[in-house]
Amino acid sequence: MGLIINLRLLSQETLLLQGELSPAELDFGLRDDMFNISLPVKYDLEAEMVDDAMLVRGRLSAELECECVRCLKSFTRPLELPELTLHLPLTGEEAVTIDNDNVDLTPYLREDMILEFPQHPLCKPDCAGLKKIDKNQAPKTGDEPESAASAWAELNKLKL
Ligand SMILES: [Zn+2]
Repeated sequence: MGLIINLRLLSQETLLLQGELSPAELDFGLRDDMFNISLPVKYDLEAEMVDDAMLVRGRLSAELECECVRCLKSFTRPLELPELTLHLPLTGEEAVTIDNDNVDLTPYLREDMILEFPQHPLCKPDCAGLKKIDKNQAPKTGDEPESAASAWAELNKLKL
């Protein structure tokens, strides 16, 4: 179904739209494992007709499941679009698809949400990653030159 706006209703009044869209309705088509949305996306929007366009403003919030690019751990972070604005022309070349006076907002919401996905999701800002953890946990090597020097000293003693 998605989020459908009836233009006849919209031409009479500003429409307040509140509710949830299921991930299936939004049809993100996320094929890789890096992102997933499995919980409904909440919307709180206001739609009005402005000249020959529909103006939609409001807020979207979702839970985005990500895979950390460094340690590959799965984690969830909020995905918030607090100031979503869609300006959708109803006439002209850029016009949105109108089906029986209805416009489906779903694809535009999906597009804006995907743009908000993080480029390099990290489970935490200072995630050390898989390989770097080993390096960090290795014993400090600060006293190595000294022990090497004393080893040479021992060898020298033997030679004498
Ligand atoms: Zn991580």
